[in-house]
Amino acid sequence: MVAASLGSKVTIIERAGLGGSAVLSDVVPSKTLIATADAMTRTLDAAELGISFRVNDGEQASVMQADLKLVNERLMNLAREQSADIRDGLERMGVRIIIGHGTMLDNHTIDVDRGESHEVVRADAILIAVGAHPRELATAQPDGERILNWAQIYDLQELPRELIVVGSGVTGAEFASAYNGLGSKVTLISSRDQVLPGEDSDAAQVLEDVFERRGMTVLSRSRAESVERTDDGVVVTLGDGRKVTGTHCLVCVGSIPNTTNMGLEAAGVDLTPSGHIKVDGVSRTSAPNVYAAGDCTGVFALASVAAMQGRIAVAHLLGDGVSPLKLNQVSSNIFTSPEIASVGVSEADLESGKYQGDVIKLSLHTNARAKMRNFKDGFVKIIARKGSGTVIGGVVVGAGASELIFPIALAVAQKLHVDDVANTFTVYPSLSGSISEAARRLHVHM
Ligand SMILES: Cc1cc2nc3c(=O)[nH]c(=O)nc-3n(C[C@H](O)[C@H](O)[C@H](O)COP(=O)(O)OP(=O)(O)OC[C@H]3O[C@@H](n4cnc5c(N)ncnc54)[C@H](O)[C@@H]3O)c2cc1C
Repeated sequence: MVAASLGSKVTIIERAGLGGSAVLSDVVPSKTLIATADAMTRTLDAAELGISFRVNDGEQASVMQADLKLVNERLMNLAREQSADIRDGLERMGVRIIIGHGTMLDNHTIDVDRGESHEVVRADAILIAVGAHPRELATAQPDGERILNWAQIYDLQELPRELIVVGSGVTGAEFASAYNGLGSKVTLISSRDQVLPGEDSDAAQVLEDVFERRGMTVLSRSRAESVERTDDGVVVTLGDGRKVTGTHCLVCVGSIPNTTNMGLEAAGVDLTPSGHIKVDGVSRTSAPNVYAAGDCTGVFALASVAAMQGRIAVAHLLGDGVSPLKLNQVSSNIFTSPEIASVGVSEADLESGKYQGDVIKLSLHTNARAKMRNFKDGFVKIIARKGSGTVIGGVVVGAGASELIFPIALAVAQKLHVDDVANTFTVYPSLSGSISEAARRLHVHM
């Protein structure tokens, strides 16, 4: 879209559907599923707000359930609609769309396998954005029925009674949270001490506490060695020999870049040992006129970063104003309940000595709006550069954290001082009041 709007003649080659996995199997379906789970969690908590549900004869209604068939139909329809909108948008911009599998013949030429026929496309420049696919364990092969990967889980017609989630990274934690909210009995198997390895440790602790309070079983320091089907479910064998049984198992153990068998070697595109495409700050690969963006580069597996890398590549290629990708300004969100959003420098970066900073963590327990809305869990954390007081990072844990992180992201990107954030009016009562309050606590009296 960006290249076309800048006047280029653009062809897009896609083997599945427009919008990629982000739209068809990853971001859009998972966040739509989570929206249903959130609605159920809020409804369950409604009693604490003084709401009760009664049927006509005065008898209290006691059962709330998700019709997973309908939920999954809704989310797949939404994904298809989103994909169709993207297709329409591209066509309106004059982009030529070829459905087929692309293989590079050299750094200017791609062979497209369209099933019945082949087409050779030549271009002045090529942007590779082939994404990644779920990593599989040899001893836990998905069958699409009981043992599933994240792309297959939307085929379920009924809510799993007992779901075992293998892997407690972002994807595993999001699905564990969602299915717990939808009413499944969830067991989360995590090979580490804490869920969400690599994320803010305080945030991971809040999430673990919430998971356990809501009846989820979290097995930490437990590595799944194998997943097998039984007559009526699955059994997961752990490294220490323990067995965990359930009706279904979702395996979320990372992803593999789609960089094999697509002629990258012939085009002179170098890969890292993990199979990702090597890129520089403006998305250039080792081959002249070949750029790469998104999950296939292994920079940050986020749709927002993929899009930014693509925009930077196009701007660089076409001589438009461009500045390199700034990884210390990326904001991201984990769509668990509560959500965990973060931006910029982390507390772990301070502990490793990479940055020097001051940290303030303010619980949402004292926030009036959080109390009114019955939000029980969460905090705001702000990190300021030592000496200068510039905001360099932050974490928000709580309902709607994905929206609340924006003021901190803006402060990080614009290098605002903590006093700038502290002295900006917030609405009273509001959750964002805790952001300015946290900044206020980092004020240094001169
Ligand atoms: C369950 C899940 C939830 C996620 N949620 C979020 C989220 O909430 N927010 C967020 O920012 N990120 C999220 N992500 C990450 C996000 O999905 C990825 O970062 C994003 O999809 C990367 O975009 P991409 O363009 O690199 O690749 P993709 O979206 O994977 O697109 C790559 C496309 O290339 C096509 N392709 C591959 N090889 C070829 C070939 N040889 N020829 C033709 N076509 C080919 C594929 O068919 C695919 O359509 C999530 C990921 C998962 C797994």
